[in-house]
Amino acid sequence: MRINCPYCGERGSEEFAYHGDATVTRPRDGGAGPNAAWIDYVYLRENPSGLHRELWYHASGCQSWLVVTRDLRTHAIARVELARSVALARMEPS
Ligand SMILES: [Zn+2]
Repeated sequence: MRINCPYCGERGSEEFAYHGDATVTRPRDGGAGPNAAWIDYVYLRENPSGLHRELWYHASGCQSWLVVTRDLRTHAIARVELARSVALARMEPS
């Protein structure tokens, strides 16, 4: 599988480290003790068939964090974004 890093160009996936599901967001509740939102955040993940957004780190390259949208059935990559841009877009008021 090859990933098209926005800074380095297309590189083999062996240069990157997979860091899991990019769709989960940290619960806003900072209260003490476990609750359902934290249990979901820490332990529960979807296992979709089709497009999925994943967090990857370009460890052997520019060391950028990337959000890769990949089809889990074919491994075809539909989109690569800088994780920083994705996070900033999440913070914009809707
Ligand atoms: Zn890179």
